[in-house]
Amino acid sequence: MRRPKILVLYTGGTIGMMKDQKTGSLVPFNFGNIYEHLPVLRTLDYTIDMYSFEHLIDSSNMTPEVWVELAEKIEENYEKYDGFVVLHGSDTMAYSASALSFMLENLAKPIIFTGSQLPMGMVRSDARENFITSVEIAASKMDGEPSVPEVCILFENHLLRGNRSTKFNAENFNAFSSGNYPTLADVGIKIKYNREFIMEPTGRPLIVHKQFNTNVGILKLFPGITHNYVKHILNTPGMKGLIMETFGSGNAPTSEWFLDELAEAIKKGLIIYNVTQCKSGSVEMGRYETSLDLTNIGVISGYDITTESALAKMMYLLGTQMGRREIKRYLQTPLRGEMTV
Ligand code: ASP
Repeated sequence: MRRPKILVLYTGGTIGMMKDQKTGSLVPFNFGNIYEHLPVLRTLDYTIDMYSFEHLIDSSNMTPEVWVELAEKIEENYEKYDGFVVLHGSDTMAYSASALSFMLENLAKPIIFTGSQLPMGMVRSDARENFITSVEIAASKMDGEPSVPEVCILFENHLLRGNRSTKFNAENFNAFSSGNYPTLADVGIKIKYNREFIMEPTGRPLIVHKQFNTNVGILKLFPGITHNYVKHILNTPGMKGLIMETFGSGNAPTSEWFLDELAEAIKKGLIIYNVTQCKSGSVEMGRYETSLDLTNIGVISGYDITTESALAKMMYLLGTQMGRREIKRYLQTPLRGEMTV
């Protein structure tokens, strides 16, 4: 049997940092020498190639331009490799994994995002395990087919669907959660794949979407929110789509000024997407009077989508040639397993 071939794409983040022996400060690690730093990788009997981005970034500096660069690297190498591992800072990993899931239509190979809370060079670092496990998952096959042909996030002992994930802890090694979808695999002595939750490839050729429209915003509701604030957000020049983070199952104030402002913005062409502030559960518009009004004025439901995924999905759909009606329809339809309706 042919040795599995994995391409590792290194974008930056803590995982790639090491203490400089002389200065003691954290500097990027040279992944070109990965076998020297992690000799245990040789026992895996895989071919592991590395591609390091020219500008390594803390993921707080992530942009859609870098997403496009990542997708292009994957596209260029898609036929040559069995799977891909993306080394990325954890802070915005859920946004990037969501974005890549929408960009890569008909994906049939694993794209595993991973990072770490402590740099690779530290004694108790989680980087080593996260890296090795991600490579193993990217190479794994079942009945000759990739075990997880999806964009995922691997952190600590869970493999999660990328567009269902959220970073919920800034300190623990277990930093990601997926409140509305089960784990795709659990990592212990063995890697146990939960096949019933893993997506089946469509069998059609890969299509890579590279256009994003970043004229979007997020409005998080809170008790005491002022008319002035809402008005300014809704009248942001050029804004095409707004994710509104509502309370509980999609509820919002019923004040006349609030609903009038939203209705006016929708009439002028703004798409307002209702997403819950809760980490688990779904928007259910019409369940309470406080969300029925939103339906009546044309706010659309994001069901149980995460804010990160909603943002990436909106930027992606607004970046296509689709008309407003079609975009609204797709926003309410699962495209890559990102929501349950
Ligand atoms: N600030 C870092 C980043 O997101 C944290 C990490 O790598 O986990 O790039």
